[in-house]
Amino acid sequence: MQIEQLVAEIKKSGAKKVMVQLPMGLRTRTAEMAGALEKENISAIFSLNPCYGACDTADEEAKQAGCELLIHVGHSKFYRNFDTAVPVIYFPWTSEIAFGSIDFSPMKEKRIGLLTTIQHLSALSGVKEMLEKEGKEAVIGGQVLGCWFANADKIADRVDAFLYVGSGRFHPLGIGNRKIYALDIETMKVEEVDTMHLEKRRYANIYNAKDAKTFAILVTTKKGQNNLLGAAETVRERLEQAGKRAFVVVMNEINDAALTGIKADAFINTACPRIVEDSFSKPIINVEDVEKIFEC
Ligand code: SF4
Repeated sequence: MQIEQLVAEIKKSGAKKVMVQLPMGLRTRTAEMAGALEKENISAIFSLNPCYGACDTADEEAKQAGCELLIHVGHSKFYRNFDTAVPVIYFPWTSEIAFGSIDFSPMKEKRIGLLTTIQHLSALSGVKEMLEKEGKEAVIGGQVLGCWFANADKIADRVDAFLYVGSGRFHPLGIGNRKIYALDIETMKVEEVDTMHLEKRRYANIYNAKDAKTFAILVTTKKGQNNLLGAAETVRERLEQAGKRAFVVVMNEINDAALTGIKADAFINTACPRIVEDSFSKPIINVEDVEKIFEC
């Protein structure tokens, strides 16, 4: 059904050669999609580079391959606008969740704000109904991204806690510093999410970066994440004024292996704010926290 909708969207655009950018979880459907598009005389090339969000479109690759259009599957349009080399259609690939009976007893709070990713938005009304049957008040917040929680903020003063509906802990952990539970759609279990360890790690990194003499400022080429090139220069100047050495490095995927051989005591990340949760051999802090190293 989703493939038929995807093909219909592409047909509507009139494009005859397209690049389809797939998230990891949909790779198994590549042959099926290629076949369905071929039947409509649409030539498709599939981009399988790692992609974690709509901040990371393969539009330059699409242009290089002579495609008229990029179909970015698995995410809705990024909350921040950026220019792309070819037009992009965002196709979120929604999926239904079959809920059995859920034990909501770990949540003692009365007013619950409901959040999820774009794939499961339609499930929130069902969860709201279930919670109301249990005597709770449920408020639908809507979609969140790993770096964007405006839909949580807008209902924050009407709820006592949030319930994230989805899989994994990546999204609920980003909400940070609030009471949050997760309803895991694989196990159908409700559990409280401990966000404190990330805050502790953040402050440990800030503390460890304060004595660094040389900083590498990390910039990505991912279009939705690299609006901070200007900020990188400003941060470099700020660090140098404070008697530190600093230089800017640009790469696509920011990870510890990609930084091998870089002689710096600490890293400043200007890209996806969740990168700092990965494992790095040097202290790494987000650009928004730079001033904090001078306050320690
Ligand atoms: S959390 Fe990072 S990867 Fe996810 S959408 Fe935001 S910037 Fe992109």
